[in-house]
Amino acid sequence: LYKKKWATTSPRIPATRLALHHFDTTYSLQLQERWPAVRSAMLCEQKYGALLNNFASADLIAQQLELLSATDFVSQAARRARCWQENESVEVERRKTSLEGSGGDGMMVPAQTSPLLHASVSSNIKCYTFPRGDISRFHPAWPDSLGILSYYLMDAASLLPVLALNVQPDDLVLDLCAAPGGKTLALLQTGACGHLAANDVSISRTKRLYHILKSYVPKEIRETVSITSHDGRDWGELQGGTFHKVLVDVPCTTDRHSVMEEENNIFHKMRTKERQMLPMMQLQLLMAGILAAKPEGEVVYSTCSLSQLQNEHVVERAIDIAETQFNITVHVEDLSHFRMLFQDTFCFFSGCRLGELVLPHLTANFGPMYFCKLRRA
Ligand code: SAM
Repeated sequence: LYKKKWATTSPRIPATRLALHHFDTTYSLQLQERWPAVRSAMLCEQKYGALLNNFASADLIAQQLELLSATDFVSQAARRARCWQENESVEVERRKTSLEGSGGDGMMVPAQTSPLLHASVSSNIKCYTFPRGDISRFHPAWPDSLGILSYYLMDAASLLPVLALNVQPDDLVLDLCAAPGGKTLALLQTGACGHLAANDVSISRTKRLYHILKSYVPKEIRETVSITSHDGRDWGELQGGTFHKVLVDVPCTTDRHSVMEEENNIFHKMRTKERQMLPMMQLQLLMAGILAAKPEGEVVYSTCSLSQLQNEHVVERAIDIAETQFNITVHVEDLSHFRMLFQDTFCFFSGCRLGELVLPHLTANFGPMYFCKLRRA
């Protein structure tokens, strides 16, 4: 009887505390001396970016944001990429000429060129952020004369998986776990999708996706997007080998949310099983994404967690299963140039075996965001 009374009146440990305890145990090992700073940042207010809506008639918006001293970090990175490429090309030419001069056959340019030579950043996407250390907030966006909102506030690091996908004109694109739709909206901002399929298993979250598209995208463009609510794990069977680009932005432990919000927290005791099953679910979704891609198609896998179990481990297992069970070779694309291109805006972790990871930091409080790009042979 005593035990029963104790059980019903014992204070419940908040899920946020359980999450923090779990992260203290795992991330202090994984991130070592970097963990305390990442932890402090995750417990503070996160920074947002303002994704400019190219579909709104908002000529003045960019100027107004610049007056607030916000800058478009995507255009900055694109300029930086172009500048580096020019320098690299000059350097390659110089080496070629010096080889010719030294009696070589002139074709013997050293094979090792920097990944920057191939770096390209979609200049159609524009996202404003306040400078490092500036914790100003953006005002909520306002509608233009047709009722379309001028910008979308999101974790600016969420754009990196979209930029990594590098959508090219007329690409058939699949966003496998699309809701509530921040990345879908960013994919549409490229203006390059030949067709965009946006899917999310959750009906209620798919409604949010519809709402976002309605608030930001004109009807004629909206109607070109096919929105579905399938279980993404079955996609490979439904429409295999179809897409040039696939985004697999999986459900995860949403680390920042888990240490800050009790509501809908995956560390609630009653969700333990669901949490433990996440890596398996992520693996199944990534496999479906790989199978949905055409040969030579590209897949970006992303999470907003720091967990190696949900990040690199899932990617490694997917590559292995693709090879052994489906006879599909999958290559990991090098994204290390992202670290250089976006170093002014984000704080990157340099210790990932595969893919890139944005670490929250008090002076650049975006992320966590993990992303890894795969190419199907
Ligand atoms: N990409 C979204 C964005 O940028 O706004 C966020 C996606 S969120 C990290 C993960 C999504 O996966 C959730 O909306 C969830 O409903 C969805 N999801 C979970 N299990 C799924 C499944 N089996 N198939 C498809 N979607 C799933």
